[in-house]
Amino acid sequence: MAQPNIFDSNIIGPIHSRRLGISLGVNLLPKDGKVCSFDCLYCECGWNRDHRGGHFPEADAVMQQLEEKLAQMSRDGDALDVITFAGNGEPTLHPDFPSVIDRTIQLRDRYYPSAKVSVLSNATQIGNQRVHDALLRVDNNILKIDGAFDATIRQIDQPNDSTYNVRRVVDGMKAFKGQLIVQTMFVRGEHDGQRVDNTTPAEVAAWCDLMREIRPHQIMVYSLDRPTPEPNLTRVAKEEMAEFVAPLVAEGFNVSIA
Ligand code: SF4
Repeated sequence: MAQPNIFDSNIIGPIHSRRLGISLGVNLLPKDGKVCSFDCLYCECGWNRDHRGGHFPEADAVMQQLEEKLAQMSRDGDALDVITFAGNGEPTLHPDFPSVIDRTIQLRDRYYPSAKVSVLSNATQIGNQRVHDALLRVDNNILKIDGAFDATIRQIDQPNDSTYNVRRVVDGMKAFKGQLIVQTMFVRGEHDGQRVDNTTPAEVAAWCDLMREIRPHQIMVYSLDRPTPEPNLTRVAKEEMAEFVAPLVAEGFNVSIA
């Protein structure tokens, strides 16, 4: 099985991200475990069951570390494109997520006013008004949706919440009125003896219809880049993903393929 990639710090990098540029990561999750409302077959952190335990870090401690890092980078003349909330799970689960966002924006304005603040989220908490409002304040509100059908999401993303349904998430995404980037992982393979594939014509057509309904200001599609906890998954080629999104591109959507 692939070695999981659990970050052992709350501030990560800076690293060069293929999608975001020079990025300083903020891990608002435990340093010794993963906490997520999904358990995606492709999660770079590994399965939830393998990383129990750990507490959310104190917001004050993370903000202090972030300020020290930004001050040091600024003194050293380092470039920075983006401060990215990601890490060992789902950042919006942190109870102080909204105030952390406000404080991060203040630090960004002080040290790197031209840098963006990005949040990579699985969108499970966007129905919470405080989370919704916080995500509206960031530059890149990047929300995952890996399919248009409940059964597909249940299979690929394995939500903890048995009442998860795509319609509720889509309605939450529409409430951003375009101030969001939708991110979708295309993948095929097998899990527990079942075929996994969100790239069939029916899947792609329904997913395109969701994009037309949500109308994000950008769509990011990508496929596997690193080892995955479910080993029986295969990468979808960029050329193929370009075919999936071609109708949306023709309709004027801003689509990036990584
Ligand atoms: S939403 Fe992200 S952190 Fe959570 S299981 Fe999926 S890939 Fe991993």
